[in-house]
Amino acid sequence: MSLIVHKYGGTSMGSTERIKNVAKRVAKWHRAGFQMVVVPSAMSGETNRLIGLAKEIQAEPDPRELDMLCCTGEQASVALLAMALKAEGLDAISFSGWQVPIKTDSSHTKARIESIDDTRVKAELNAGKVVIVTGFQGIDDQGNQTTLGRGGSDTSAVAIAAAMGAAECLIYTDVDGVYTTDPRVVPEARRMRVVSFEEMLEMASLGSKVLQIRSVEFAGKYRVPTRVLSSLTDPMMSLDDEKVSGTLITFEEDEHMEQAVVSGIAFNRDEAKVTIRGVPDKPGVAYQILGQVAEANIDVDMIIQNQGSDGTTDFTFTVHRNEFNKTMDLLKNKIQGSVGAREVAGDTNVCKVSIVGIGMRSHVGVASLMFKTLSEEGINIQMISTSEIKVSVLIDDKYMELAVRALHKAFGLEKEAA
Ligand code: ASP
Ligand code: MG
Repeated sequence: MSLIVHKYGGTSMGSTERIKNVAKRVAKWHRAGFQMVVVPSAMSGETNRLIGLAKEIQAEPDPRELDMLCCTGEQASVALLAMALKAEGLDAISFSGWQVPIKTDSSHTKARIESIDDTRVKAELNAGKVVIVTGFQGIDDQGNQTTLGRGGSDTSAVAIAAAMGAAECLIYTDVDGVYTTDPRVVPEARRMRVVSFEEMLEMASLGSKVLQIRSVEFAGKYRVPTRVLSSLTDPMMSLDDEKVSGTLITFEEDEHMEQAVVSGIAFNRDEAKVTIRGVPDKPGVAYQILGQVAEANIDVDMIIQNQGSDGTTDFTFTVHRNEFNKTMDLLKNKIQGSVGAREVAGDTNVCKVSIVGIGMRSHVGVASLMFKTLSEEGINIQMISTSEIKVSVLIDDKYMELAVRALHKAFGLEKEAA
């Protein structure tokens, strides 16, 4: 009997009515002959509520205790879903991460899964039960409960599917798949029937928040067939229709039926730009600047260095907006003096817009069409970075929507690929 893993997000679990619908859908699959493991998130808003309570008490909540607290959200979900399945006439059992167990490292609030022992889950499946496992959590080797970071239930589901060799991992969410860009920005955005794992990885890292990036990494590493689809459809829709709905993440390029050069446009408003000007140019300055930034645990994304004619050089790089103040402090109070720079400047009104597509590997001129399109809209490009399958530009935040719309059109993304 083949095993299927379903994951339901917070919206899908948002009320007892919705939980009953989830139970109906799961029951339909189970009755069609599949073994089922179901991984739900906490009810929508619950994790935020719990974090809010913690912050009312401690400005920087103790990470171990925060994990203890947040684990309750998913624990409530699994129990309610088990009850709903029983009410549907199925036999079901729920487990917390530690009961499986899902073993993680000890990095509280952002733990990584190390191993999953599926003995207990398998035994219950073989006894004919639907098994429900909490998303988002595990246990470290000291017996402390841990969580996997916001959005971590996606990763739990894909990791369980990988560990148990599931035929498919279905991620049910409040959108009906992965789109060529955010449909709230471009109403003509089109749902992709398939997307390659590499494109999905880029899209997730560039700010398309459909899946937690770690879940995509897991899917790629273990080649877990993963599908993103809507939980808001009629739970009793035909199984044949449901099986081909949403967006399938694929691993073979030749399976990739929509061989467009550019598959999607991603954008990200979480970055901020910092510049350090007039640095005496000599070997080691990049290390002196960026080494100290790295030591402060600040992640740097895009970097450019310009050489002046007067023996100095300017560095510009981007960091997460949450770390902008910390980065500016570090540059002004420490780095500027130590490297003898003339000035430090920063800008948070920036946005990164990227075109993504594995088709770019075999096509030239993709970047120039991007630059042409932006220039025709009068949008200034501040920074550029590229990889094999993406080109990203940093632009003024206020042109984000215009840029995304123009690029979506220029690359013909609203049309169904032939
Ligand atoms: N409940 C957790 C969160 O809100 C995990 C998840 O929903 O995936 O981040
Ligand atoms: Mg999510």
